[in-house]
Amino acid sequence: MTETSLQTGTPRRGDVLELDIEKAAFEGRCIAHVGDFVVFVDGAVPGDRVNATVLRKKKQFAEARVEEVLEASPYRVEPACAHFGVCGGCKWQHMSYEQQLHWKRTHVTDAFERIGDFTDPPVQETLPSVTPFFYRNKMEFSFGEMRWLLPDELGTVNRDAELFALGLHVPKRYDRILHIDECHLQSPESNRILNATRDFFSRHGIPAFSTRTHEGDLRHLVIREGKHSGERMVYLVTSRRMEDIMPEYTALLRHEEFAVSTLVQGVTTRRSTVAIGEEDIVHFGDGTIRETLGRNVFRISPTSFFQTNTLQAERLYALAASAAELSADDVVWDLYCGTGTISLFLARDVRHVLGVELNEGAIRDAEKNAADNAIDNTTFICADIVDAITSDTLRDAPAPDVIITDPPRAGMHAKVVDAIGRSGVRRLVYVSCNPATSARDCALLREHGYIVEAISPVDMFPHTYHIECVIRLRKENAE
Ligand code: SAH
Repeated sequence: MTETSLQTGTPRRGDVLELDIEKAAFEGRCIAHVGDFVVFVDGAVPGDRVNATVLRKKKQFAEARVEEVLEASPYRVEPACAHFGVCGGCKWQHMSYEQQLHWKRTHVTDAFERIGDFTDPPVQETLPSVTPFFYRNKMEFSFGEMRWLLPDELGTVNRDAELFALGLHVPKRYDRILHIDECHLQSPESNRILNATRDFFSRHGIPAFSTRTHEGDLRHLVIREGKHSGERMVYLVTSRRMEDIMPEYTALLRHEEFAVSTLVQGVTTRRSTVAIGEEDIVHFGDGTIRETLGRNVFRISPTSFFQTNTLQAERLYALAASAAELSADDVVWDLYCGTGTISLFLARDVRHVLGVELNEGAIRDAEKNAADNAIDNTTFICADIVDAITSDTLRDAPAPDVIITDPPRAGMHAKVVDAIGRSGVRRLVYVSCNPATSARDCALLREHGYIVEAISPVDMFPHTYHIECVIRLRKENAE
């Protein structure tokens, strides 16, 4: 610490501080103090003593990065991944899995106490992921013409060709791609596909699309796999059809070591950087893979939305179903139903499920998924829930015995909370991907007479700070 900052007691940019790391904060960083002053630290584990450099200083807090671990926390573990620290994907791989679960639960409790003003919220233990690694059924990689060089590579790369990259975006550097040769969140086969694809196109000198000049052919490589079915899809997104080179790439991916069931090429000339083709060309297979969730089979196309951790999604839905205490005569409303996975998961156990969702494509998928699985007691409505619930849209729908709601990170609109509150429905299950907004919404629901009976954190994304919750609410004296 410099003289001046020592005197004032507040750290300054560039200071190297010796810090005792106290706890994990929201969004993956840790908290330490210099006197009363809060420092958010990147790269630490609670229980560490570290030297950390201050990168930014704000009025209320500073942000610092670990330079050296002086005393390692007992919860510190060796990260499995060689890319840890540079790749922003798994911020918590250096923390033991038990500690990750502990901090996720703590964050949920904190949110309900501080934002929702709940005393002793009934937060259960975090349900661990069935598999802490290899859990993702989809990974999306980007090609780039500006590879991110690691410190020991600086000065060693002389030719532009060596800057060709296929991997993940470096956090906050959207023009830079980090080479990934082994991602522990996907299967070994998928890693082989990733590396073989990079080698192949690099060898043939095919240029990557540049987000600066909008020139270049190769944009994205999306790999999806059915964890139950074992089927695997490669979706290559390019700027042109590349008829000259695709037959050879197709032949490569047919090789059995990759176990690819279908190869689809998405072609787009748009400037947008999303991995969606304007035209999809199926090179082999039928352009879809199958995946099972509970008793249902889903056909997944290259761009369709699907829960990324299949095995854990099944546990999440099973928890939601059990929180709903379903009986055969129930009518269930599934709000923010997406492609209907929750609706279909429980349809066989109830009289009827009504799903409401804004996205038209998702509703079409939901209807198709119902038909494919011979489920005939679901109805899907494409509407903004805010409009639907405050207008006549749902007037003729059967009244719900249970509402299940699974809003996006922003939580529910206050009008939706209000309409649920006034509906008189006794059983309410809130599936949340954001503890802060669900705590806020549950506090509003409390004003309508709902009691939060149980909050069950479910870990869908090991090694990240994200946490999903199933919240069971009940209204005792419904009118
Ligand atoms: N329940 C689904 C998906 C939940 S994700 C599943 O388990 O797979 C949240 C969904 O809410 C998204 O599909 C999004 O399109 C939808 N959504 C967001 N805002 C909405 C609104 N105002 N009205 C209806 N649906 C909305």
